[in-house]
Amino acid sequence: MSKRQVYLDNNATTRVAPEVLEAMLPFFGEEYGNPSSIHRFGGHVRRYIEEAREQVADLLSASPSEIFFTSCGSESDNLALKGFYAVHGSRSRIITSAVEHPAVRNTAQFLQQKGASLIELEVDGEGMLSEDILDELPIDEHTIVSLMWANNETGVCFPIHELASKVKARGGYFHTDAVQAVGKIPVNLKETPVDLLALSGHKLHAPKGVAAVYVRKGVQVEPLIHGGHQEEGIRAGTENVPGIVGLGKACELAKRHIVEENTYVRKLRDRLERELLASCTGAKLNGAKQHRLPNTTNVSFEFIEGEAILLHLDENNISASSGSACTTGSLEPSHVLRAMGIPYTFAHSSTRFSFSRYNTEEDVDAVLAVMPKIVEKLRDLSPFVEKTA
Ligand code: PLP
Repeated sequence: MSKRQVYLDNNATTRVAPEVLEAMLPFFGEEYGNPSSIHRFGGHVRRYIEEAREQVADLLSASPSEIFFTSCGSESDNLALKGFYAVHGSRSRIITSAVEHPAVRNTAQFLQQKGASLIELEVDGEGMLSEDILDELPIDEHTIVSLMWANNETGVCFPIHELASKVKARGGYFHTDAVQAVGKIPVNLKETPVDLLALSGHKLHAPKGVAAVYVRKGVQVEPLIHGGHQEEGIRAGTENVPGIVGLGKACELAKRHIVEENTYVRKLRDRLERELLASCTGAKLNGAKQHRLPNTTNVSFEFIEGEAILLHLDENNISASSGSACTTGSLEPSHVLRAMGIPYTFAHSSTRFSFSRYNTEEDVDAVLAVMPKIVEKLRDLSPFVEKTA
């Protein structure tokens, strides 16, 4: 009999919640009309899109008219930054951090080639930015500061409220990639003055292929996709109705489960982290312990390749993720861990476990049952460890 799957890679993607799937099913079946149609068969589908917009807005404490549906978090980030650049042209100044997801980092670098000026902020050894990091930097009405709410690899959360407030006070614009934050920690846009925000369905138990961008009322961005009048002209194209309905339902559920993220999920994560650090030699936590998503832990095991750890975990039906990427045949530590200045022997071996509300104590038990042995075995094989005769 095959072993139970232990899925601890929820920052990569999440399972679709059963309630989400159920809400979507009619739109793959009898409700296939086009929401832009004049006839009632199609036209009446529009109200389900508007209901989903209200559900997303409600999770963010935003107005439904500020929510626009897109196809993925990357598109939302691109729309925010390229849409800003299209309005401000070569006067655009982009301030971002060295640990952003490529959806922001590569977009900012692309816009730099087009003529925007770009400042990339360094983080400290815990992957954190201080609240006053922007104080000495030039910020004006052509500046967009783009900083992630929570880091996908370490879970570290930047002080977005303080940073956004300072940028707004100086007349600049603030975008946040909140793809990892939404649904895991409270994101309240009544309290936190961001102008643009990206979120993605598949990170919060909605399906892949649907996402949203928040654009604060009055903030101007040009669309990436021109065409019909859908999404107020901000994002043309016939709507992904089942996906949008699913995203709405997932946001409604996320609001209901947010306390659980911070209690049940955090407790599982904390136990795994505590016991891994205690039972595996040479183990070290990456990222700030306090200001962190409740579902993420990123641990390095000195002298061992992260990839080898993942393969051994996979053999035990445990899915996790590593902070190394295979570039030109060699395993390079991720840009996030490099930016944090993590020594090579640790950065190389980082392993990320990311939880969801569907995980259980048994999942934690399963990892703890195998991990110390995997670490011991791989360390014995490591060419970096000096062997005593
Ligand atoms: N931003 C962050 C922080 C992410 O973790 C991801 C996906 O991993 C993205 C953006 C991109 O989202 P999507 O996969 O929906 O394009």
